[in-house]
Amino acid sequence: MAKKTRFRSTSKATRTILCPECGRSVDVAAKAMSIFCPHCSKRVILENYYVKGYHASRDFATAGDIVVERRGTVTAPIKTCNLVVKGDVKGSVLARGSVEVTGTGHLRGDVTAPSLVVRQGGSFEGFCRIGAGTS
Ligand SMILES: [Zn+2]
Repeated sequence: MAKKTRFRSTSKATRTILCPECGRSVDVAAKAMSIFCPHCSKRVILENYYVKGYHASRDFATAGDIVVERRGTVTAPIKTCNLVVKGDVKGSVLARGSVEVTGTGHLRGDVTAPSLVVRQGGSFEGFCRIGAGTS
């Protein structure tokens, strides 16, 4: 019986994400939609969200990005990578990437993120901790 040697595929079918719960990096399959974080064992959603309607929850977390569209309203604490607010957000925001409030956006809540941009016409009410050391 000859032993077969199997070669693992070397194709880069993985990507690295940051867990929105514990902030540590995790390698995941490129097409995975959700995983359990090996560090904090919490379920982590990997999808990007485009909120066009009303979204309220106790927890709105993704390792992807969240875009709140012009007619979108989110009432929830948010943990995400990048957040773009074109509509309304009420809740604290913890972003590992950037937070942008566009000219049509309204954000009420405290923001912790490496960067925060509020465009002319947009509004932001809350405390913020901005900078490289916040994530
Ligand atoms: Zn984690």
